[in-house]
Order: sequence, then structure tokens, then C-alpha cells
Amino acid sequence: MDTSVSSAAQLDAIDQQLVDGVLNKQRRALAKTITLVESTRADHQQRAQKVIGALLPHTGKAIRVGISGVPGAGKSTFIEALGNYLIDQGHHLAVLAVDPSSSLSGGSILGDKTRMESLCQRIEAFIRPSPTAGSLGGVAAKTREAMLACEAAGYDVILVETVGVGQSETTVAGMVDIFTLVQLPNAGDDLQAIKKGIVEIADLVAINKSDIDPTAAAVARAQWKQALHMLRPASPNWSPPVISVSALKKQGIAEFWNEIERYRDITTHYGEFEAKRKKQAVDWMWSLIETGLHNLFRSHPQVQVALPQLTRQVATGQTTPNTAASRLLSYLESDATENI
Ligand code: GDP
Repeated sequence: MDTSVSSAAQLDAIDQQLVDGVLNKQRRALAKTITLVESTRADHQQRAQKVIGALLPHTGKAIRVGISGVPGAGKSTFIEALGNYLIDQGHHLAVLAVDPSSSLSGGSILGDKTRMESLCQRIEAFIRPSPTAGSLGGVAAKTREAMLACEAAGYDVILVETVGVGQSETTVAGMVDIFTLVQLPNAGDDLQAIKKGIVEIADLVAINKSDIDPTAAAVARAQWKQALHMLRPASPNWSPPVISVSALKKQGIAEFWNEIERYRDITTHYGEFEAKRKKQAVDWMWSLIETGLHNLFRSHPQVQVALPQLTRQVATGQTTPNTAASRLLSYLESDATENI
């Protein structure tokens, strides 16, 4: 039996046009590709997978930066300042977002046209709001694929913004090279971050709004340094720096970017940069497998029939969770045996 798998799939003419358009850096083709990726229609999904597969050899050259912080921390002001700085340095940047809450609010991140107004007008920037449908896992999968499409279109910096609520930080940290936090200069904010365990995944912390009260910013910086110092760093070669910035006054932007480049250089030197990307790709495959299995299970006709009754029986103690789970899983297993 031939078990070798090829990712090269035949493309329809219309999809070949999309691929060519993206590779020729056409924004319209890129936007259309991302729309295809975000579509929930099964036929669109099939096409999207082929298109992304064809783009894949042209990806991987950008640096992927996650930017997280609570609403109001100044993320969009910061991204605007950073984006303009990077474009002035000759970069092309794409700004994407992971915001599972946007399926409820209709798009809180990047949805508002007034955010990042000056950046929106620059041809070197491509800004895309968070997909508005789906679970965090679904939104994240689409953002990952959008990121690949942007890389194939030649954007060499990808910023992935996320709000500092729920699990979205961990999800974004799992798709970027470096994960940064934009924090407010007050202790309450620090404690919140520490409690939620996001300190562990921060590779760089920027204390924003330091123009308002430089003393408070210095105190916050010291507290963050101490908190980070107490943790075992993710890499023995990198201690997450804490810097003061003012997005509004455009201060500390160059320093922030220098730290990103320093991180890339150091982790590349020690082979950690590539190792992290490989691990992320494999983790992503597993998360897709898990979602796929879950959907397969939920949509199985026998499971759908038996599930309500077994759930009741487990709740009332008539059946053990173990027996119920084994029975339900056996429906999938019997399908698998039939297919051998
Ligand atoms: P986001 O919700 O994290 O994207 O935050 P925004 O970028 O929308 O910023 C929230 C508010 O903080 C806005 O009124 C900004 O003008 C303001 N802001 C952002 N950065 C700074 C800063 O560095 N200094 C000051 N003084 N205000 C800032």
C-alpha cells in the first residue's frame, strides 16, 4: 500500500489565478484568498486547502509577532506607531487578529475603521479584522492560514493582535515567533496577567502610556522584571525584556523592534527559532486532528441517537461515565473496522 502523501493538488483555473495573484503581491487576490479560507462552506474549504497548499512553499520568510493586552491598553495605537515605523524602515506588514469575542460583538478587534487610520492608508500595510464566525480554535486556524497567505504575498512582518481575555493569548503564542504583551502601568494589571498565567508565555513586555506617569511606568517595569525573573525562562538564551513605551508619543518603538530582532537573531543562532516553528506546525496538525475527530464523533448517526439517553443515565448514576464513553466510542471504532 502506498502511504506517501503529496500536498500538491490540482488547482482549478480560478484558484490558480488566486495563487498567481497572491504571489504577484496583488492585495485583491490576497483578500479573496483569505475570504475563501474564512468561509465555512465545505466546497470553499476544499478549495482553500488547495490554494494554501500551493502557497506553502512561498511562506515562512516573515517574522511573526503576537501582540496582546487588555482592551484599552493601547494595542491599536501601538500597532499603528510600530507599523508606520516599520514601513519607514522598508518593511511590508500584515496585521491580523484573533478575537473569538468578535463572533458575539460583530468584530471588536480591527473591525472599527477608525482604528489604525493612518496605517490603513499605507500601501505597504495589509490589515484584516478577526474572522467573526466560530470558536477560538476555528478563528485561530483561519488566522494561521491567513498568515501563510500574507507571507506568500511578500509581507515580511506579520503582527497578530489579540485581546487579553480568555485563552486567546495561548492560542496566539502558539502561532507566532515572539509573543509580546502591551501592559498598562498599574499594579492591578500586572496581578491580573500573573494570575492568568500569561506571564509565562511573554517573550517581551512593553509598558505603554509611560508618558502619563513615568514614575508609575518605572515601578511597573521593575515589578514585571521581578515577576519574570522568578519564572523559569522558556529559552535558556533569552530573558524576556521589559521596556517602557508610549504609543501615543511614538516613544520606545525602535527599542521594541530592536528587541524583536535581537530575539530572532539569538534564537536563530541556537536553532530555537526553527525548532519552535516546527513544533507549532505539528501542534497545529494535532489540534486539527482533535477537532476533526470531535466533529466526526458528534455527527455520527449512532452517537447522535444514543448520546442523549446515555448522558441522562450518566447524570443519574445508572451508567458509569466509563461504560457510556466506551459504548459511544465503539460506534466510531466499528466504522473504522468496516473500512479496513
Ligand atoms: P486597545 O483597545 O488596546 O487597542 O487600545 P487603543 O489603542 O484603542 O487605546 C485606548 C486609548 O488609550 C486611546 O484613547 C488611546 O489614544 C490611548 N493611548 C494609547 N496609547 C497611549 C499612550 O502611549 N499614551 C497615552 N497617554 N494614551 C494612549
